[in-house]
Amino acid sequence: MPAPLDILHATFGYAAFRGRQAEVIDRVMAGQHSLAVMPTGAGKSLTYQIPALCRPGTGLVISPLIALMHDQVRSAEAAGIRAAALTSADDNRDETIARFRDGALDLLYVAPERASTEGFRRMLDRAPPLALIAIDEAHCVSEWGHDFRPDYRLLRPLLDAYPDTPRLALTATADRHTRADILTQLGIPEDGLILAGFDRPNIRYAISPRDGLPKQLAQLVKEVEGPGIVYATSRDGTERLAAALAQTGRPTRAYHAGLDPAVRAANQRAFVDSEDMVMVATIAFGMGIDKPDVRFVAHAGLPKSIEAYYQETGRAGRDGDPAVAHLFWGAEDFARARRRIESEVEEARRPGERQRLNALAGLVETAGCRRAVLLAHFGETPPPACGNCDNCLNPPAAVDATVVAQKLLSAAFRTDMRYGLGHLTDVLAGRDNEKVRSLGHDRLSVFGIADAEELRLVKAVARALMARDALRADEYGGLGFGPAAKAILKGDAELAIVLPPKRERRARRASAEEWPHDPLFEALRACRRDIARELGVPPYVIFHDATLREMAGLKPTTRHGLGQVTGVGARKLDDYGDAFLDVIRAHA
Ligand code: ADP
Ligand code: ZN
Repeated sequence: MPAPLDILHATFGYAAFRGRQAEVIDRVMAGQHSLAVMPTGAGKSLTYQIPALCRPGTGLVISPLIALMHDQVRSAEAAGIRAAALTSADDNRDETIARFRDGALDLLYVAPERASTEGFRRMLDRAPPLALIAIDEAHCVSEWGHDFRPDYRLLRPLLDAYPDTPRLALTATADRHTRADILTQLGIPEDGLILAGFDRPNIRYAISPRDGLPKQLAQLVKEVEGPGIVYATSRDGTERLAAALAQTGRPTRAYHAGLDPAVRAANQRAFVDSEDMVMVATIAFGMGIDKPDVRFVAHAGLPKSIEAYYQETGRAGRDGDPAVAHLFWGAEDFARARRRIESEVEEARRPGERQRLNALAGLVETAGCRRAVLLAHFGETPPPACGNCDNCLNPPAAVDATVVAQKLLSAAFRTDMRYGLGHLTDVLAGRDNEKVRSLGHDRLSVFGIADAEELRLVKAVARALMARDALRADEYGGLGFGPAAKAILKGDAELAIVLPPKRERRARRASAEEWPHDPLFEALRACRRDIARELGVPPYVIFHDATLREMAGLKPTTRHGLGQVTGVGARKLDDYGDAFLDVIRAHA
């Protein structure tokens, strides 16, 4: 039996296991059942691929989405692994079944609804014993999880029919409840849980109030090279923003459920294959896409929860290279969300939903480290500063705005809580205009009580008050009290607000631009692009950027030298080595 480390070197071309990969692999090699909870990009696939190559028999992989299976099969095959998927979308099913029965497959991918059928079990019984059963996206088995899939519940009899075959459940997102549920549902002992940290250190988090969104997004697109996703909040929004961003010169497409399915599929495919496309999409986009070289994820509005935010931003930088997650929010996002909770959510679920929204408010409003807030939310105890988020890199000024908040709340109260921020600001500023006078608001005690300094803060204060539910906006923008108003008015609670730092002309950049422009690297990318096009696969299936960058640095001129580069396994060396060596030699 080959050793896992040898396969890691020979097949994948990687020098060492990362994080807790080795632990997971050791358990599977020893025939034990396990649940691995590891963040996106941690390298979960390797933890079943390698044991499947080492142990006798085929590794069976249960996976929820056909697109994911095909992606995995394609990447595995490029590394020389004998892999196939058995789905309704594959017309080579007989051939796959024959290969499986002959023991000529290292990996077989199937969906849970197929794996749980009688017919599938009969097929397994007639084939050589399995090397392992991997259950990918295992949180789908739990009703606590966010994507419960009843089909996952039907897997247990299959697992129990092969009690000696090691099972490995994998997921990136599972809170304590969900983890416990997965263990019970899939019959994995408690000591089989391997829980890696949630942190994605290569993602730089940034959060800003919206202030001319198309411009803000265009700036981001300009600063961050490489593919990116912009999550818009509506179908209209995707099309509008896509049109605006196309002006930057970047290839840009839109994706939402209202598009013709053929157009949608073509757009998704173009994005997966691209090295520089911006996809403006609703959150329907991303599930089932395993594109490792996404360099930024932007949110044009508030996500549903911190969990959703983490999952959506987690699609950036799976390859471990620097990536950016930038969220743009406005007070009206909170106003709308709070209105929805009070009017559309059943009573019993409201406290939970409010909590969710308050957690988001805490994240967007903090003057401290974003990563610390995120990781603490997931139950970790992170260091107070990460050095790779907007607030750590460019600390904002926090000012005590309690008095301004009290004045603004008083103005809302004195004017019967039905006017918008513009009018309230006029009143506070003592502007003697038509509307103010006709309403008699120039005779109120709050008329003209704010000075110029305070007036400059009013907008940010209103945003902060709305985020923490001290002010609520009705559908027409009229501002009234929320439950948190009283404490601030009475002086029992303070309001510190964060002033966005003056834009630093060259806030440190992420992504490719951190590396100086290198003609050899560009030439290697062009070579990769040609091969990818010829084979009809996305460029990242050939080699990742990090591998090309290492090649450009080491400039190996022999096959042996090229084989030392991270990510160059034996099969890829055979298949593409000469093409890349030619490029390197031509630049020597
Ligand atoms: P996950 O499924 O956990 O999101 P993947 O299995 O897709 O992550 O792996 C993410 C990337 O990291 C892949 O491109 C993979 O080849 C790479 N990778 C995995 N393990 C290692 C390792 N030990 N060394 C270097 N790269 C690795
Ligand atoms: Zn930080």
